[in-house]
Amino acid sequence: MPTLIKNAEVFAPRALGIRDVLLSGATIAALGEKLDISGRELDVIEADGRWLLPGLVDPLTHPCGGGGEGGFGNRTSELEAPAFIEGGVTTLVGALGTDSITRSLEVLYGQVMKLRAAGLSAYMYSGSYRVPATTLTGDLARDILMVEPVIGAGELAIADHRASHPSLEEIRRIASDIHLGGTLSGKDGTLFLHVGDGPSGLDLVEETLCQSDLPRRLFYPTHCNRQAALLEQAVDFAQRGGYADLTVSTTPELLAAGEVSALEALREAIEAGAPASQFSFSSDAGGSLPHYENGELTGLQEAKPSALLDLLRHAIGDGPAAPVEVIAALTRNPADALKLRRKGRIEPGADADLLLLDPADKQLSDVFCHGRRLMGDGQITMNSNHS
Ligand code: ZN
Repeated sequence: MPTLIKNAEVFAPRALGIRDVLLSGATIAALGEKLDISGRELDVIEADGRWLLPGLVDPLTHPCGGGGEGGFGNRTSELEAPAFIEGGVTTLVGALGTDSITRSLEVLYGQVMKLRAAGLSAYMYSGSYRVPATTLTGDLARDILMVEPVIGAGELAIADHRASHPSLEEIRRIASDIHLGGTLSGKDGTLFLHVGDGPSGLDLVEETLCQSDLPRRLFYPTHCNRQAALLEQAVDFAQRGGYADLTVSTTPELLAAGEVSALEALREAIEAGAPASQFSFSSDAGGSLPHYENGELTGLQEAKPSALLDLLRHAIGDGPAAPVEVIAALTRNPADALKLRRKGRIEPGADADLLLLDPADKQLSDVFCHGRRLMGDGQITMNSNHS
């Protein structure tokens, strides 16, 4: 039965005011003021002025766990669907990360399909930190073309002591393969880059762009707020039309060591003249937050899927950036960067991935993905062996 959400304060992510939204099957069928749908049998949800947002889009998660830096005792666990639903995340992309030896793309694929079975929109990157690229089929272009949940490769690491220190030629070849696979499959393809705190930052990306005909939108660097110099490079990258991702999960130690908080980084980028539409936030959920001093690992925490919702709550309070720009960076911007064109927006024809949130107590009451109500009245409704 179609669902009508009445009298919601809609952020599409643009602020539209009080609207009604009609969901039909997996998509948004209509959006308007006081929709007249007389004579149809409907499930009606009275939003009563609560906020209706697109479901959050998280471009970097580690569904099969991450970490292991400092030894096996530091491995983090697999992520389960309820953690994403409670965090308002309806679309996520899974990545391997640092360890592609004791974790594999096959296991990641299994986890992604498990999250889909629980009702979420889950995708994955092929590859890992390392070069030559880790693949499912022996070829990055083939992975993108033949394996439906694969929308690109990542996190390929640059400017990091844990990276394979890829050469310009290697990056250019990998990016070309992704571009080819993305073009042939219609997915467009994304090279999601883990940028470490090495001084070269985005230099390799800019050199690759200079020495090829590859489009800038193919490259999607993350952790761009890990230090001021990298953020400056990311501002320049965004001004030229690229998408840059800011990591929300952090620790007091990382901030003391020069990381710029994600909200502050967005504000600084906008003040520096970068278009806000080119920035996104990611949680890095399941990844470890290692802290190094003089190259020695001195501490480790685990990033959580709830990090994005926590950021939004902070922004609603007295955060330094306007909530609408923050909401866009949590929804439409990452969807556009990943070329998931039906995600991250509330408009007719878009996927019915929606959140209802009470701005007074900042609590989520409802989560829809593909029109399925995964949370209702604050309770998870999905069937799961793990809830
Ligand atoms: Zn990373």
